[in-house]
Amino acid sequence: MRVYNFAAGPATMPLDVLEQARSELTDWRSKGMSVMEVSHRSKDFVAVAEQSEALVRELLGVPAGYHVLFLQGGATGQFSAIPQNLAPEGASVDVVNTGAWSAKAIAEAEKYAPVTVVADEAASGYSTVPAQGAFGSSDGAAYLHYTPNETIGGVEFGYVPEVDVPLVADMSSTIMSRPLDVSRFGLIYAGAQKNLGPAGLCLVIVREDLVGHARQSTPSVWDYSRMAASGSMLNTPPTFGWYLLGLTLEWIRDTGGLQAMGERNKAKADRLYAAIDASDFYSNPVAPQARSWMNVPFLVADPALEKDFVSGAAAAGLANLEGHRSVGGMRASIYNAMPMEGVEALIDFMKEFEQKHA
Ligand SMILES: *Cc1c(COP(=O)(O)O)cnc(C)c1O
Repeated sequence: MRVYNFAAGPATMPLDVLEQARSELTDWRSKGMSVMEVSHRSKDFVAVAEQSEALVRELLGVPAGYHVLFLQGGATGQFSAIPQNLAPEGASVDVVNTGAWSAKAIAEAEKYAPVTVVADEAASGYSTVPAQGAFGSSDGAAYLHYTPNETIGGVEFGYVPEVDVPLVADMSSTIMSRPLDVSRFGLIYAGAQKNLGPAGLCLVIVREDLVGHARQSTPSVWDYSRMAASGSMLNTPPTFGWYLLGLTLEWIRDTGGLQAMGERNKAKADRLYAAIDASDFYSNPVAPQARSWMNVPFLVADPALEKDFVSGAAAAGLANLEGHRSVGGMRASIYNAMPMEGVEALIDFMKEFEQKHA
């Protein structure tokens, strides 16, 4: 029996995608073999790669003048690939610190360039984002990096910052959750395992003029110009993950694209926050204007009940609701593939649990 899986990543995937993969697992496109067993350079697999790039461009409305790359090493790999490609020796980089993932990106960038933190939400305990217009870029910065959705803190920007340098965004946990104006960004990247499929690939969308200036020491697999020139196939990519990513993009298109995705995601998030706010038993620590549509952390009045909540929920078919080990509490990740029924089942369970324990 499938359960509602609220894991933060790897995360739930659309059942349609899994069933299609199962139906063609041993014999893909009448080849007499699985997609995992064909050459990444074969005509059929190259078609999968090209179709997934075309779907990224179509769904996000990527304007001309951007490369779409599928790289390995996860979003974490990009924490170091970005400064190596975009910050020439001697340049500094700007960052906005809104929590745990920002901090990891900062620590990695510091290996390559002086980092200027232009805004830091430490004073709020990372429970909000800077106000629109509250920060800008500093002199000599090659780019400004921020984390539109902090997966652990559940803090999300409701706006795209306006800055004078290329804007770089770690969209791992918010990519394709709603329509996006890609032209505002110099570079967007996202690990696949939240909204795009299984783990193994990191989507990178980068403005062409920012490519071609990588430092000499940049590993070839992370040199955007080499990856762009080779269709992201300088070496063997994780082909099965790429195929599943392609099926996931088709599912997004077939269920209405990003407009419909955004409406569904907003409705799910609104329902869950409303249920939390309506109760004195549960609370969410995030400032209302900065609440994430994708990752909803919440607390129970008595922390001693957390364990019971998580295990009781699991027994009711609601899996992986424990909060991140660094913050405790609970967290419901409600990515694209989580249906409204899953959110409703969670709310029903929360009410029952409250009645029993309040
Ligand atoms: C999950 C996540 C990452 C890390 O992704 P990996 O693929 O594990 O490297 C980075 N940033 C954000 C915002 C994330 O949610």
